[in-house]
Amino acid sequence: MSRFWSDTARRLTPYVPGEQPKLDKLVKLNTNESPYGPSPRAVEAIQHAASEDLRRYPDPNSDALKAALARYHSVSPAQVFVGNGSDEVLAHAFIALLKHAAPLRFPDITYSFYPVYCGLFDIAHTPIPLTDSLEIDPADYAAGGPIIFPNPNAPTGRLLAIDAVEAILAANPDVPVVVDEAYIDYGGESAIPLVDRHPNLLVTRTFSKSRALAGLRVGYAIGSAELIEGLERVKNSFNSYPLGRPAQAGAIASVEDEPHFRDSCARVIATREWLDQALTALGFEVLPSAANFVFARHPAHAGATLAAALREQAIIVRHFKLPRIDDYLRITVGTDEECAALVDALKALV
Ligand code: PMP
Repeated sequence: MSRFWSDTARRLTPYVPGEQPKLDKLVKLNTNESPYGPSPRAVEAIQHAASEDLRRYPDPNSDALKAALARYHSVSPAQVFVGNGSDEVLAHAFIALLKHAAPLRFPDITYSFYPVYCGLFDIAHTPIPLTDSLEIDPADYAAGGPIIFPNPNAPTGRLLAIDAVEAILAANPDVPVVVDEAYIDYGGESAIPLVDRHPNLLVTRTFSKSRALAGLRVGYAIGSAELIEGLERVKNSFNSYPLGRPAQAGAIASVEDEPHFRDSCARVIATREWLDQALTALGFEVLPSAANFVFARHPAHAGATLAAALREQAIIVRHFKLPRIDDYLRITVGTDEECAALVDALKALV
């Protein structure tokens, strides 16, 4: 603590991102990146953008990227907002939409950035407990304050069916509802088609997972033009150049390479099913996952002990030291070889 810090800086409990160790031969299954590379067309577009015109400012509005995303999702460009990763898009949503008189609601076990943003932006919030099976129950979200939740949820991987998402929207027509679809491409049904019927719905997406561009930092949101305008007002009040030239070019090329995208999602899903079965065979309880990670615990072995033992063998998974999920490991679905190495290591431990 410094006496020069503002009250806000003193009060904060900053988010600690998943570690990014720089060890060779590491099996890194802790931050849900794609095990496969981005579209080669995206890499080419990034290189091209980096090789010319970098002395010039980028398009402050990312119009070409918004147009590409609007085409891709069959919405109008006025329904698209873009930012440096979905964390930044979410920051704009917290300021523009989620700060209301009634406390913001989100699941008690969820993406840990939400409470951090509440601290930063001084937003009152009420955690809504997940059910005993670690699911979101729409009945717990009757009319009240604004709502945000990931679908599938993180770190559980559990998916909320689209009719349950719509039930939450129907019960809350007067407040913004943000659905964070960071992991939706691994088997979930998107809420984007609902934006036309629900002007209070904002869906956020990222290029960091299924598009394998975590290092590029691109995220976006789709919603009614009314909600998007609110986000733009906030953005243009402190951060008027959202994305650099390589990021805009790379994201456009990625959206335009559907075969690469579909193929890498399908491979991750197939490996996830294999990993689920292999862990179950070792006695783990594995939650059904619709994401690119699995959430699992072993009845006879503490999560912290297993995570530490794996680490000794240069296999990094995520263990959460939180009430109710302290036993669980969150394991990113890597390549087949990485997942086989993990399972082999666990065989010797359980
Ligand atoms: N939402 C959820 C649920 C996440 O797990 C993540 C990744 N940590 C993000 C958003 C942010 O991803 P990014 O900023 O890389 O787009």
